[in-house]
Amino acid sequence: MGRIEINFRCKVRKLKTLCNFALMEFSSKLLENAVYEMSQLPGIGRRTALRLVLHLMKQPPEQSERLSAALTAVREQIRFCTNCFNISDVELCEICSNPKRDESLICVVEDIRDVMAIENTGQFLGHYHVLGGKISPIEGVGPQDLNITALIEKAKQGKIGEMIFALSPTMEGDTTNFYIYKQLQGLEVKTSTIARGIAVGDELEYADEVTLGRSILNRIPFENSLKTS
Ligand SMILES: [Zn+2]
Repeated sequence: MGRIEINFRCKVRKLKTLCNFALMEFSSKLLENAVYEMSQLPGIGRRTALRLVLHLMKQPPEQSERLSAALTAVREQIRFCTNCFNISDVELCEICSNPKRDESLICVVEDIRDVMAIENTGQFLGHYHVLGGKISPIEGVGPQDLNITALIEKAKQGKIGEMIFALSPTMEGDTTNFYIYKQLQGLEVKTSTIARGIAVGDELEYADEVTLGRSILNRIPFENSLKTS
């Protein structure tokens, strides 16, 4: 499917959403605005948006104030760990500043939801590196759009003993793993990938904790995953 066709489809979908929204009758511009903004969130359709806004209207005003203050604070004040790009309130995240964790063992993940999912397993005591996405030519995401340079730089400085690729097993995940693997050629870094107890195409964050925990403990050398795929 060509890129132009995809763009066209996206535009048609957007137009349909706008038309559907326009069909909703609002007796208040304020309500309409609130519902519209809420419906911009992923997974929130206009009906759900309306239900949420009406719910908030029934609650004491402090609830809406707390919600809006929390969202503003998270947007304005939260930062990314300068070492691993995990989300953090301070320069170095809690994981990177914990001396009990092995800084030479790096688990490479797509985003912070994966860090949370793996942390919940309690099976991993190394550090992470959050890429901020996956290479996806179809969506126009190239290696330069991700936190890959910092990762390779760390490897070149001899700071990494083993790198575990823990991206979701999709085509984009595999492409990203392979790109990083190629960048590591000539460096003394052991590479492994999480065992595929996780079904192909599954997102990492949806895997149950036991499965995900085992898949990290039973990780396999990355080269082996290339031979089987
Ligand atoms: Zn960190």
